[in-house]
Amino acid sequence: MIKLYNTLTRRKDIFTPQTNEVTMYCCGPTVYNYAHIGNLRTYIFEDLLSRVLLASYGLKRVMNITDVGHLTSDADSGQDKMELGAAREGKSAWDIAKFYEQKFFEDFDSLNCIRPTILAHATDHIKEMIALVKTLEEKGYTYKTSDGIYYDTSKFPSYGELAGKSNIEGLKAGARVDFNEEKRNASDFALWKFSPKDAKRQMEWQSPWGVGFPGWHIECSAMAMKYLGNTLDIHCGGVDHIAIHHTNEIAQAEAATGQKYVRFWVHGEFLVMSSGKMSKSAGTFVTVSTLKEKGYDPLDYRYLCLGAHYKTQLEFSYDALDFARQSLKSLKERVLALRAADCGAVKDAEGLKKAEDTFKEALEDDLNSPKALALLWEFVKGPADNADKLAFAEYADKFLGLSLLEESVQKPLPPAAAELLAKRQEARKNKDFKTSDLLRAELDKMGVSVKDTPKGMEWRWK
Ligand code: AMP
Ligand code: ZN
Repeated sequence: MIKLYNTLTRRKDIFTPQTNEVTMYCCGPTVYNYAHIGNLRTYIFEDLLSRVLLASYGLKRVMNITDVGHLTSDADSGQDKMELGAAREGKSAWDIAKFYEQKFFEDFDSLNCIRPTILAHATDHIKEMIALVKTLEEKGYTYKTSDGIYYDTSKFPSYGELAGKSNIEGLKAGARVDFNEEKRNASDFALWKFSPKDAKRQMEWQSPWGVGFPGWHIECSAMAMKYLGNTLDIHCGGVDHIAIHHTNEIAQAEAATGQKYVRFWVHGEFLVMSSGKMSKSAGTFVTVSTLKEKGYDPLDYRYLCLGAHYKTQLEFSYDALDFARQSLKSLKERVLALRAADCGAVKDAEGLKKAEDTFKEALEDDLNSPKALALLWEFVKGPADNADKLAFAEYADKFLGLSLLEESVQKPLPPAAAELLAKRQEARKNKDFKTSDLLRAELDKMGVSVKDTPKGMEWRWK
């Protein structure tokens, strides 16, 4: 029995899908810059949820790529993030989107996140978005201003239900500060924006209302319903999307179809930096590449994320990441040693099954990954037979995705260390053991431990 905290009902509800194939939509990246590790925490939690669902059902999961229309301000003002990225880097908006999408998936894959069933690019679905805005217009939910077609939130009586009334009131007050005089209500939002008259946009399309580009929220409603039907089983994202983006997705979809849009809204809490907000200028914008440059494996970060429940804020620090790295390393060493010992068939099948069920139940209880990790450690360290321990670790890793049974995927050596290794190889060939020892000490300082074996020189990260 799977239980999930549903933001809409504000409690943990028992989850059953509409059919045997769960339909799930996850808000994807806006590809105008690298994803930071905060963004990636959300994708790791969604991956864990996917793995838990896949253990019981089929899964059709759609993720979007926002490659147009996400403005720098949620109040529909400011610049389009893609055009901004293009201006910053002197490339075309299309090239920016392609480049950062590729970078995003490099990170996604390195964190062992399973790819979605369907990847939907906003720029490939302009037709569907226009059709949805047209339906809303025909039903009387829209109005025109000098800069676009807007959604009139006062026409949708349950507007803001997802965020709760008090939150919506607060947001309305906030939106008033930066109030667009032509909007009828502070919470109204753009469905279609007109291209500025005095400047040519790189990304723009014809529409019944004139040349322009879609609002950000319309893309998710249009693509989710195209692939998954009017009512989705699950919709995920980070908590920052509750008050505006997901609230507006509901307003658009339900006004158009008259049906419930999403049965379960599942939101992941934020990763916060111990040093304050993640910002480029303060040097606290951490990416997977930053971690790799510092010698971490991306899976160290996955382990760190799994050690906290997805609904609690996680404070990032390198101390915490070091601890996660150490724990993952020692867990892997134990599991690999079990495998190397060739311990034969499972001895206590019943006991193993019971332990596996308890493990799965922890994850099915609103993704309690800290408990699942603790259960795995307990079993691996406990009195069970080695063969049973190995089987348990294999089972657990299908959910955790930590590559526990893969020989340590060595993160590549930074060029400076590779150079020292090559020099040491040369020194040994020349029987210059003094230099060889000095180089070993230097490598040691860089965190690289070198061993001379009968097969030659071997290195590993300490
Ligand atoms: P974006 O590319 O800004 O649309 O964000 C991609 C995903 O990352 C969304 O689901 C956001 O809710 C989520 N997100 C953004 N910042 C953080 C953070 N600091 N911690 C966790 N998730 C985040
Ligand atoms: Zn979305």
